[in-house]
Amino acid sequence: METINNQPEPHYWEKMRLVADVLRATDATVVIIAHEDPDGDAVGSTLGLARALRQLGKEVWWIVEPPRFLRFLPHEDEYHEPVDELPEDAVLVVLDSGDRHRAVGAPVEGFVINIDHHGSNSRFGQIHIVDPTKAAAAQMVKDLIDALEVEWTEEIATPVLTGLITDTGNFRFGNTTPEVLETAAELVGHGVKLAELTDRLQWRPPQYFKLMGMVLSTVQFHFDGLAVSAHVTRKMTEEAGSTEEDSDDFVGVIRYAEGSYVAVFLKEREGATKVSIRSRAGVSAQNIAVELGGGGHVPAAGATLEGVSLEEAYPRVLAAVEKELKRAGFLG
Ligand code: AMP
Ligand code: MN
Repeated sequence: METINNQPEPHYWEKMRLVADVLRATDATVVIIAHEDPDGDAVGSTLGLARALRQLGKEVWWIVEPPRFLRFLPHEDEYHEPVDELPEDAVLVVLDSGDRHRAVGAPVEGFVINIDHHGSNSRFGQIHIVDPTKAAAAQMVKDLIDALEVEWTEEIATPVLTGLITDTGNFRFGNTTPEVLETAAELVGHGVKLAELTDRLQWRPPQYFKLMGMVLSTVQFHFDGLAVSAHVTRKMTEEAGSTEEDSDDFVGVIRYAEGSYVAVFLKEREGATKVSIRSRAGVSAQNIAVELGGGGHVPAAGATLEGVSLEEAYPRVLAAVEKELKRAGFLG
């Protein structure tokens, strides 16, 4: 089981300057990857860093495949296909990934720089900067770009702000610190078109709404309403003409069930079940995720149960939820 350390990184700026020095000095390719099922922070933080390094004249392989709702961010020629082998002397930057096995796109080997904000991060890599007090990996990339002394442009600021927007739930979650708002103000000052960006981030295809109708009919309440659950099957996704990513943010809908302290969303996959967990008021989604072999943050976490069907996953997930509700004092 993973261990959790939610303390701030004690040598944050020292390490950030060290990473900036390494990246400035290298003549080799910089390969940038993030976690599987990349979200706005994974895509935005990596793309922002890739653009900043290209501005410094670096050869960069940006190996992240954005989900459909983020495909408007990169230009076509910016993307590099996943690789099985790194170029010689490459510097590998892994962003927003709790452990080396969650990172996809390239093998995590050679000189590895791990920059992340998950308390469950295993602190892998030659240099790791893990600060769970940061709202997003994008915040850390903002600091790294400052340390690199790259001149900010709208092109660089837009993906970075995207990471901040998505990981703070549009500046509504508890991780929305003064630092986040100040950084956002700065990035908007660098030319990001905020209204256009936030509007674009909410666009969804018609089949998304069809699928949501089906998913909402699976909503169930547990433990006298202290927890809420819903799920999506592969059949539902198929019937709606949807893809799996269309259900990525449904947990963000059911989390607002009044009186619920935990929301769990189960996604049926081939040979596995993916669980997304959200919590509030002293209940830790992170504890539930770690119990299930995953990880994340206190209010938002997840796990993938390999070899576990949807039916088998439900009792396991609910047992982990019950344990955490007891620990937090909501259940006797
Ligand atoms: P999700 O439910 O996939 O939106 O994930 C919520 C948060 O938990 C994100 O910060 C994820 O990076 C993290 N997370 C999700 N699944 C895992 C996992 N299997 N291991 C570690 N962190 C995870
Ligand atoms: Mn993140």
